[in-house]
Amino acid sequence: MDKPIRNTARSIFVVKEKIFITPHYIRVIFKMSDEQLVLFQNMRSGSHNKIYIPSEKAMYCADYEESIWNSDFFTAVRTYTTRDIDFNAKTLQIDFVAHGDSGPASKWAENAKSGDFLGIAMKESQKPLVPSAQNYFIVGDSTAIPVISVILETLPSTANVMLLLEVNSYRDTFVLHSKANLNVRWIYNSSPLSGSKLAEECIALLAEEKQFYIYAAAEFEVIKKIRRHLKEALQLERDRYYTVSYWTRGISEEESNQERQKQRME
Ligand SMILES: Cc1cc2nc3c(=O)[nH]c(=O)nc-3n(C[C@H](O)[C@H](O)[C@H](O)COP(=O)(O)OP(=O)(O)OC[C@H]3O[C@@H](n4cnc5c(N)ncnc54)[C@H](O)[C@@H]3O)c2cc1C
Repeated sequence: MDKPIRNTARSIFVVKEKIFITPHYIRVIFKMSDEQLVLFQNMRSGSHNKIYIPSEKAMYCADYEESIWNSDFFTAVRTYTTRDIDFNAKTLQIDFVAHGDSGPASKWAENAKSGDFLGIAMKESQKPLVPSAQNYFIVGDSTAIPVISVILETLPSTANVMLLLEVNSYRDTFVLHSKANLNVRWIYNSSPLSGSKLAEECIALLAEEKQFYIYAAAEFEVIKKIRRHLKEALQLERDRYYTVSYWTRGISEEESNQERQKQRME
């Protein structure tokens, strides 16, 4: 069956403001020009995007509008969540986990200042982030909190949501906004590169209650364990859950993509 054609838009965004919303979360707010408001008019909060991180060379290039898309001028492409597009305020927002300067995206966000620029590409998407349900069980590590925050903002007051969220420390927790009834359990992990107990905690909670739609987004190994449990131990139908890996311990996003491509070919 033919897949519906989804429009893509890409543009260079200029940083308006950067805020550390918690010690390990950086919110970067970009200005949207009138042209960008038109170009991105069908894009929505919660969709994922591709960010193009400019090199030093691009930063000093007068014609960066064009040159950033040339691979000589960007150091890396990474996947993030569009945390918010506000067509009235003319802003687009991305929340970055600050995990140090080993990754170009985290490094860029840590050093970003007003006036800096970033290439952002997005695909149009009409599909809701989660299907309609009465009870949800939503699991995520820090990288998934932006998309989870958008999901929560869209749920109705009749929905019940159990949340299991992993962040660096209690200082990285924040207030989640939703009309739905939320039951939030935070777990703390100051060293996600050394491993996580998120999958085990998730599996333990699933033993108590199974009548949920399950949404899980986190590190690759965590998701592998959760997916295996849902498929093999609980034998849930495929339409009862959605699991997605957001990053892989010890390797960069492009290495992780290459690894998965290699596995698919074998
Ligand atoms: C659909 C989708 C949406 C996403 N949305 C967001 C989002 O809104 N906000 C967000 O912060 N991330 C998000 N991510 C995750 C983000 O793409 C990865 O964390 C990415 O690897 C970061 O790029 P980097 O250049 O900082 O590090 P990379 O160069 O990819 O990796 C360098 C090193 O850092 C490690 N690393 C990567 N991420 C983390 C982390 N979070 N904590 C500790 N170590 C890490 C890697 O294992 C590697 O050792 C999303 C991923 C996907 C697939």
